[in-house]
Amino acid sequence: MSENTYFVEGQTGLWEVVIGLEVHAQIRSRAKLFSGASTEFGADPNSHVDYLDAGLPGMLPVVNQHCIDQAIKTGIGLHGDVQTVSIFDRKNYFYADLPLGYQISQFEKPIVLGGYIDINLEDGTPKRINITRLHVEQDAGKSIHDLHPNHSYIDLNRAGVALMEIVSEPEIRSPHEAQAYVKKLRTIVRYLGTCDGNMEQGSLRVDANVSLHRPGTPFGTRAEIKNVNSIRFLGQAIEYEISRQLAILESGGEIAQETRLFDPSKGETRSMRSKEDAHDYRYFPDPDLKPLVLRAERIENIRAQMPELPDAKKERFMHDYNLSPYDADILVAEMDTAYYYESVVKASKADDTKQAAKTIANWLIVEVFGAMNRESRTLNTLPFTAGNLATLVDLILDGTISGKIAKDVFAKMWESGKAPDTLVAELGLTQISDTLIIEKTIEDVIDANTDKVAAYQGGKIQLFGFFVGSVMKALEGKANPGMVNDLLKKKLG
Ligand code: ADP
Ligand code: MG
Repeated sequence: MSENTYFVEGQTGLWEVVIGLEVHAQIRSRAKLFSGASTEFGADPNSHVDYLDAGLPGMLPVVNQHCIDQAIKTGIGLHGDVQTVSIFDRKNYFYADLPLGYQISQFEKPIVLGGYIDINLEDGTPKRINITRLHVEQDAGKSIHDLHPNHSYIDLNRAGVALMEIVSEPEIRSPHEAQAYVKKLRTIVRYLGTCDGNMEQGSLRVDANVSLHRPGTPFGTRAEIKNVNSIRFLGQAIEYEISRQLAILESGGEIAQETRLFDPSKGETRSMRSKEDAHDYRYFPDPDLKPLVLRAERIENIRAQMPELPDAKKERFMHDYNLSPYDADILVAEMDTAYYYESVVKASKADDTKQAAKTIANWLIVEVFGAMNRESRTLNTLPFTAGNLATLVDLILDGTISGKIAKDVFAKMWESGKAPDTLVAELGLTQISDTLIIEKTIEDVIDANTDKVAAYQGGKIQLFGFFVGSVMKALEGKANPGMVNDLLKKKLG
């Protein structure tokens, strides 16, 4: 693993960038963390609110065991240590969208300690980012300030929804690394089914802590950029924050420890409030909740049912299917893509499975993804089946059609949804691999171009391409290119 650094250069010398991320991932669960209210997104305001979520006195929280299982699963997926005893604490603060006056969270004893996420730097070298902790907590409600000129509205549907807060060590060194970390984390929770990862719906939100310091000296004061809800904005917010802090530090100023907001329309961060320290929240164990005690057996049962995660899948694709790390990364980035890819590979009847798998990967990444982008389709709405794509590749590999003709067949397959073998038969596209036909065509081309033949034989070997092209053209692109090359070489001497 590389111990890379990312420096920014000011007038007065180099500064090192230090970033730590706190990711809030909404747990996939039908009910909230301590109440039975629904977590459905986009429902009418305040229609999914239990007495507990509304902060009515005397209501008691009851832990949703499914949410806990989801957190355990995530902890295992991130290589962390699931704790057999953890504690729910009250984090006290006043806000209109927090009717209880506190958030139930975990402070000194979180459910998961440690863990890591492996990312790739821009040049492809791997880097491991360690995770400090994962804890479970309630989400707050939502204040809406832009519906009325004089009033604010409160929607408590989100109040009490279960979140996992995943905190990284301050080991991230660049906007790219921060983006790669969040992308990878999102991929992992989606594979696990523990969070849907939909950032635009707020199911995954990132707080970015950013500071600069002179290499070799203690870390500088950080600013925290709250609730960034897209990977692109995360990169922009950190870029902006680095240049803002650089300007202050270079002119001898000090960075305020504060919470900032990123404004995507301006591409800037601005101060929201000065940041509280942990002791300002007066954390204490919630007297309504017993310590969360997990039997080892429960943790091991979940461990035994873990799906294959992206890193393992990538290794397997590289090993079993001869894929490059780059191609394997693309295919495992979304679970749907990986499943689709393997369903095409399984449908192929080619003799050489590795060769077929590699060709299918190329076709998927270049042709299918390209057409999907142009036509705004997803893997679920492709106009042909996985079996059709496998057949197309099989037709190339068994020599029935050339790779070039296959692109035409693919375009027709996309338009008509017809099977590739049907199209090849209907359109008479079968590759010409008949030596006699190819030889006859070569002779015709030679007869019609005696001057070029003389020039070629006199040393102008770059004319070879002209002969190949002429033969292919005469046979409407259907000749087997390998055979045309070989036979031409023989005839031209
Ligand atoms: P809090 O919960 O108050 O935000 P933590 O100590 O839990 O504070 O740290 C939160 C995040 O800030 C962690 O991801 C950590 O890696 C990161 N962090 C801590 N110190 C720095 C620093 N000097 N510069 C950048 N990030 C930092
Ligand atoms: Mg924080």
